[in-house]
Amino acid sequence: MVCAHHHLYSSLARGMPGPEAPPLSFLGILESIWWKLDQALDLETIYWSAKLGALEALETGTTCIIDHHESPNAVEGSLSVIAEACTEVGVRVNTCYGITDRHPASNFPPKSMTEGARRGIEENRRFLSEGGKGMVGLHAAFTCSDETLAHAASLAKEFNVGIHTHVAEGKIDMAAAERLNSLSQDDWILAHGVHLENEHGLQGTIIHNPRSNMNNSAGYAKPKRFSNPVGLGTDGIGADMIDEFRLGYARLRENDVTESPQTIWEMLEINAGLFPESQQDIVTWSYPNMDPWHLAFSLGVKPRDIVVAGKEVMKDGVVMTVDVDEIRSKAAEAASKLFKKLDELS
Ligand SMILES: [Zn+2]
Repeated sequence: MVCAHHHLYSSLARGMPGPEAPPLSFLGILESIWWKLDQALDLETIYWSAKLGALEALETGTTCIIDHHESPNAVEGSLSVIAEACTEVGVRVNTCYGITDRHPASNFPPKSMTEGARRGIEENRRFLSEGGKGMVGLHAAFTCSDETLAHAASLAKEFNVGIHTHVAEGKIDMAAAERLNSLSQDDWILAHGVHLENEHGLQGTIIHNPRSNMNNSAGYAKPKRFSNPVGLGTDGIGADMIDEFRLGYARLRENDVTESPQTIWEMLEINAGLFPESQQDIVTWSYPNMDPWHLAFSLGVKPRDIVVAGKEVMKDGVVMTVDVDEIRSKAAEAASKLFKKLDELS
């Protein structure tokens, strides 16, 4: 299994102090929750967040993660910390730093490239030039100036990788298609696409994130309407791809009673193409029939044995690479440190 859009930095977010008043819009959710969380991260909390996220991916049979990272107060070195944490667990990761002009907030909406975006570009460049497996990350067009979008696209070309970005997740980003049209390429990853027109003109793979879209009241993306390939992601809510498949199917069927689980299953096949190394990994499942019609109605299917790149990383349901209890307790300590920082920020 491959998670085609993840945010490993959000693994410690569960139970975090909530906003004083419930946010009423998509931008409100971003400003009062996620853009606070990313500001509170340092390299230590990024490490434990990534390690917990990687462990939980493995525990659900996901051996490959396509990650999108942001930590504006700990940019330099952050991608290497994530890669290191995943390697220790035995999970493959493709990561990137989400370049954005939204810091400082006074610059929003952005007109020209900021120092923050420059630091993001440099972190992507540093990681890729040191041989890191990654893409060039962009937060989303609506938090970037045209100058920044153009710089990110040329960096991606320089390293022969795609851009990984959010696209039209909320109505606030509806101009994304027009602004990215002349830049996008086949190897881009376009997360969400909820508010894209059917014929939006962007090249790349659209990643459907059904649970996150429902959680943020973003709307239903109706993923079958696109001519682009469509993959499946979690947008940071774990990396349990069978669970996301099951939910994606329920949402699809709610919208069209003639639909089949095969439609969402095909998204997992698109994911595998985005992370070809996944084909070398072997997962043995607790359920004997991995047919979409079975899995859509079989809850709690788990991996039993996992081999990644020839190495046994799980045997009889036990993770062999790391001390699972230690990761959970260190992640809990890191989470309380993070929540304290969040309190100070609000
Ligand atoms: Zn996302």
